[in-house]
Order: sequence, then structure tokens, then C-alpha cells
Amino acid sequence: MVPAPPIPMLDLTRSDETLKRKITGAVAEIWPAVESFEKAFARELGVEHAVFVSSGTDALLVALIALGVSPGDEVITSPFTFFASASTVARLCARPVFVDIEPGSFNLDASRLEGAITPRTRAIQPVHLYGQCADMETILEVAKRRKIPVLEDACQAVGAAHQGRAAGSMGLLAAFSFYPTKNLGAAGDAGAVTTNDDALAELVASLRVHGSPHTYHHERVGGNFRMDALQAAVLSAKLPWLAVWNERRRALAARYAELLAGAGRVRLPAEASGNRHVYHQYVVRVPNRDAVRARLAKDGISTAVFYPVPLHLQECFRDLGYREGSFPEAERAAKEVLALPVFPELSDEEVERVSASLLAALA
Ligand SMILES: *Cc1c(COP(=O)(O)O)cnc(C)c1O
Repeated sequence: MVPAPPIPMLDLTRSDETLKRKITGAVAEIWPAVESFEKAFARELGVEHAVFVSSGTDALLVALIALGVSPGDEVITSPFTFFASASTVARLCARPVFVDIEPGSFNLDASRLEGAITPRTRAIQPVHLYGQCADMETILEVAKRRKIPVLEDACQAVGAAHQGRAAGSMGLLAAFSFYPTKNLGAAGDAGAVTTNDDALAELVASLRVHGSPHTYHHERVGGNFRMDALQAAVLSAKLPWLAVWNERRRALAARYAELLAGAGRVRLPAEASGNRHVYHQYVVRVPNRDAVRARLAKDGISTAVFYPVPLHLQECFRDLGYREGSFPEAERAAKEVLALPVFPELSDEEVERVSASLLAALA
């Protein structure tokens, strides 16, 4: 018998030939691409402005600079996310203040938010992890009452929505990543800041080019956060497919849920009410995660762990004073999460094989 071919976590080579030809064509006409793509992306999300930048990390950084985050300020975020959500705060000599997560959604537990606010809190930065929005209704209510701006880390959630509002359209500012593995991926690094505020959009655009709206006259210290036009050309060709791809991710998630239903020892991802989850990752919780993972690997199935170490326990953040036990839900999630393959080109048959292998591993 021929062994079944391996199933990768993600396979960027499967994107279709017609699209590849389109991209090649688009690359030939890249020059006006950044500005026209900014408009198209803003329209897609229903926001006033999108300012394209060099990466998702730089989108967070430039948004924090635009909010005036300065040494000694505090920015509240989740301890269970990609490093850049907190490292950008630290790079401005400000302090990331973590709030534990809600175990069902893996997102910042909004009921604990108010307790973390101090007179130094300069911004609240929820992360829409794995493609699902945080509890923005509660977060926006607290932020409004306490008069603190909200910066959404929407890097994993392009196309997601909360109560009919697009991820990245709810806070004062939002950051997106177009890293190739994200739901809308460029051919290299790229990102965006979105906002409905005209003055902030102008400020971010100026910070993107060294705070210099007029060449060689610098009003403030920014950086080189430009996105290159090649990425804009690639993204322009892909944007019309985003909704279709996200629908396919949702269909794959529904299929996983069907196939894995009733298996006692696995906890499936839950879509919170009012949320449209776009499954950047399909993440289950299993008790004996590393053994399960090894068993799937034996069947040729790639999986991943996002993230094995919560940010408050990272070596570089030791001087923040957190320790083991500071955020029990984030710590438990780090031990239990397992991301299964999910990407638009994954076949139904592959989902069935992954599910069968997972069920066998749990038996
Ligand atoms: C990917 C990601 C980022 C950083 O984006 P890059 O484009 O890789 O710099 C930030 N936050 C989260 C939650 C991400 O997933």
C-alpha cells in the first residue's frame, strides 16, 4: 500500500495558477499600487483610512507612537499572543500590562480589564487571536468611560467581525499584518494601520516616512515604515478572494467540528455569540498535547503550537515582575493548545484524515 501523503500545516504552493498569472501581471504595473490598494482595503473593511506599512509589527509600533505612548506609560494587552503585541510597547520604553485570557476564546478577559487600569494607562490593545474578535462590546464600553484609546491588534483577524462590525474598524486605531501566512498574505512583509480619524491617519502616514510630510522637513521622529509597491500589487490581486477564502476556512472549521464532536478529551474552538470567526488558526485544546502532537506527526500530519510560552513568562520581560501563576488561564492554554491544519486549499479528505488521526491519538 502506498503511504498517504503528509498533510502540512500550511502549503503556500497550492494557490492556483490563474491567480499566480494575475499576480505576475499585477507586478508589471506596480507603481500606483500602494495608494489604490489602501483605498480598496479601507473600502473592504468599511473604514475611512488604511495606511500601509512595512509589517504588522511596524503597524503596532507606529500606531503606539501616534497615540503618544511614551516611557513610563502602560499599555494593557493579552499575555497569550504573538510577541509583537507586547514587544512594540516595550520598544517605546512603555510597560505592557497583561490581563489574563478568557479560556473559551483565548482572548483578553474583558471582565478583568477595568482592574488593570491605572493613571498611567495610555492605551488598551486587545488582540483578536486566531481570527476571532475579543469582547469588543465590553472593552469599548470600559475604554469610553475611562477615556482611554483602543488599538486593535487585528493581525490575525482580517475579515472577522463582531456584531456586524469589521475587525479593525472598532478601535481608534487597528493594526493588520499581511505576512504570507496570514489570511491575506503578501509575498513578503507588509502591514496596515486603519482608523476612522482623519488626523491620526495623517499622523501615521507622516510617521511612516520619518515624520516628514515635506521632504527633509521633519516635524517629529518617525521611521521608515513604508510598504513596498510589489507587496501592494500582490495584495491587490488577492484582496477580491479574501471573503471566499475566509468562507472556506469557516467551512473547514465546521467540518472539523462535525468530525470531532463527542470526542470527550478534546475541546473545540468556540465562536462567541455575535462573532464571525475567520479561523486564521483552528486551535483545539487537549490535555496530553505533546503526545497527541507526536502521534499526528507519525501519521504525516503537521500541527503547531501558538504559543508555547505566554508573554509574561518570556525571559526578556522578566523585569516586569510577573511569575508562574500570574495568569493561570494563559499558562494553561500554553500547555494545551494544538493548531490543526487549516488553509483555503486544504481538502475535505485531508480534514477527515487529520480528524481520524486526532481521534485515534485521543482514544
Ligand atoms: C503576525 C502578528 C503580528 C506581527 O505581524 P508581522 O507582519 O509578522 O510583523 C502581530 N500581532 C499578532 C497577533 C500577529 O499574529
